[in-house]
Amino acid sequence: MKTPRNSYVARHLVDVPRSGIRDFFDIVSSRKGVISLGIGEPDFVTPWHICEAAIFSLERGATAYTSNLGLMELREEIARYTERVYRVTYDPRTEIIVTVGVSEAVDLAIRALLEPGDEVLYHEPCYVSYGPVITFAHGRAVAVATRREDEFRLTRAALEAKVTPRTKALLLNFPTNPTGAIMARADLEDIAAFAREHDLIVLSDEIYAELTYEGEHHSIAALPGMKERTIHLNGFSKAFAMTGWRVGYACGPAELTDAMMKIHQYTIMCASTMGQKAALEAMRSGDADAAFMRKDYEKRRNYICASFKEMGIPCHIPKGAFYAFPYIGEFGLSAKEFCLRLLDEENVACVPGTAFGPSGEGFMRCAYAANLNNIKEAMTRLARFTAKLRQ
Ligand code: PLP
Repeated sequence: MKTPRNSYVARHLVDVPRSGIRDFFDIVSSRKGVISLGIGEPDFVTPWHICEAAIFSLERGATAYTSNLGLMELREEIARYTERVYRVTYDPRTEIIVTVGVSEAVDLAIRALLEPGDEVLYHEPCYVSYGPVITFAHGRAVAVATRREDEFRLTRAALEAKVTPRTKALLLNFPTNPTGAIMARADLEDIAAFAREHDLIVLSDEIYAELTYEGEHHSIAALPGMKERTIHLNGFSKAFAMTGWRVGYACGPAELTDAMMKIHQYTIMCASTMGQKAALEAMRSGDADAAFMRKDYEKRRNYICASFKEMGIPCHIPKGAFYAFPYIGEFGLSAKEFCLRLLDEENVACVPGTAFGPSGEGFMRCAYAANLNNIKEAMTRLARFTAKLRQ
């Protein structure tokens, strides 16, 4: 007779914790009057002409599946966009796949690459999904800590300390959630040389590329010798305020996108047709909207950084994305304790840095995608709270 199991859940899943952000927001949602700087999503509604394109497509009866790779006209538009904005040329017939957000693109890329025990390097603090997605694919997630002293840029030296013969891929996210770090071209060149020397595939999640406030965003795929070993991952959620539409894409060598396509075909079929129609409009005519929103986030960033300075809370200037990542280590509380007390005593929700990995201890993430009046009120309350802690 079979011995009864304690649990039917797959073993490799059991130890993966729930997202620290979700846990925190379960607490937030049970309270009234909270100002939230917690959620990493635009407070803008999707520009109307983008919504209209989707509505028109429904009126014209576009309600069926699309090609598994995504609408050809959208892939063609993505190819034009990556050429214009990132200076990388992809073939829309074989090198681009439209996905359900960047989230699916990251998952497909990891699953297409990893065999059990393969290692993936990624910089930390980082987006909450990376470690778990690697674990789900039976890979080994190898975090490489980045430091406040380097404004959370990734260095070759830090990578060299963690690479092994089992390392297969390097996962990058610049501008970074949660630190707002960006990489100058020279920094990226170092990382590219590292990837070439160790024969690694680079997965580059550039979802915040359009939200770069200082300098120019450089895609690692555009550097010499990198297109053939990079999967460029991107989407519409942040730049075009389209989180709920769930459309993203991956561009890369045909062999890899073809492998990703197999998983996508059997598990998802295609991204929603309506969402793809909206994404097409965003790519064709959304530049001005993206620029307008970026300008507005920049104003909020400047306000929030100036407030931290006034309070004497060290915070590097985030050069991209829409997150500030101030250092709160001086108060003698863990990041979680600090955020819980801030919520409890002042009704302001920020996310403890540890939600983004152990190297986030001593920090908290404040998303400035919230409305400026709310940011101002949150900063007033935070100033009161920290003054009290210092007494
Ligand atoms: N990648 C990063 C770095 C993110 O911060 C997020 C969302 O916060 C995503 C991917 C998810 O993007 P999408 O909505 O396109 O799935």
